[in-house]
Amino acid sequence: MEMKLTILGCHSATPTVSTHPTAQVLEMKGHLFLIDCGEGTQIQLRRYKIKFSRIRHIFISHLHGDHFFGLVGLISTFLLLGREAELHVYGPKGIKQAILLLLKLGKAYTNYPLYFHELEENSPQILFEDDKISVETIPLNHRVYTNGFLFKEKPDDRTLNIEAARELNIDLSFYNKIKQGFDVQNKAGKLIANSEITFDPPPPKSYAYCSDTAYNPAMIPQIENTSVLYHESTFLEEHRHLCEKTKHSTAKEAAAIAKMANVGTLILGHYSGRYGSLELFRKEAQENFQNVELAEDGKTFSF
Ligand SMILES: [Zn+2]
Repeated sequence: MEMKLTILGCHSATPTVSTHPTAQVLEMKGHLFLIDCGEGTQIQLRRYKIKFSRIRHIFISHLHGDHFFGLVGLISTFLLLGREAELHVYGPKGIKQAILLLLKLGKAYTNYPLYFHELEENSPQILFEDDKISVETIPLNHRVYTNGFLFKEKPDDRTLNIEAARELNIDLSFYNKIKQGFDVQNKAGKLIANSEITFDPPPPKSYAYCSDTAYNPAMIPQIENTSVLYHESTFLEEHRHLCEKTKHSTAKEAAAIAKMANVGTLILGHYSGRYGSLELFRKEAQENFQNVELAEDGKTFSF
């Protein structure tokens, strides 16, 4: 099954007519996760025809406006549309108070179950898990308490080689056990090794979302060998001095993290508005790491 990432917004600071603040949707194993929720996210969701009702989990990295000012609007639109499905919001401590105060002042109360999962740990924490995937925090280094998120598929069952199983005279009733990796006896009582009758499942995919953060090699062991890394690159090296004050990264630093963590693909985003062309970010990153993609509002990546 494909993993699909849709960028709703990938620009830093203030929204403009053509650039939207951070929000993205990750589709993984039947789940649709909303990651960050900058101003205007609900309009972007409509523009790219993403069904509101499929969003059950929203992950907020930190409480800077360009990452969560769209959340109260989205939550109240869900209310106006008569949503019934549960909604889980994961974000820094304080997020519940902020959202509920705004709803309360307007005398709006959600008619659907709304759960806040507030975060304050500085080490990775599992936030959500089922039999197919898990989601955990990646502690980041920013001006306020910030987490990235690591989404990981669990390994699929092994794929049955039906022809081999038939030839080796194995009873149908064993097929599920075989997919789970067991060796089984055939009808003649001979033990058949699992590897003779199955294929490896496709390797599990993973997605690491890291925005906003200063250069932060501490996260490398956690994100090692991740299929796809989204890493902010607010600035280019010529403005590296701004990174210290604002706790952001350059494209070159993002690529250094990608290289050391041996990820498959690096996606850059969270661009400062001061640069003429996004290609400058790709060019600079490729000095450290070859497989670089540029996030753009509305762009979808499939892996
Ligand atoms: Zn920020």
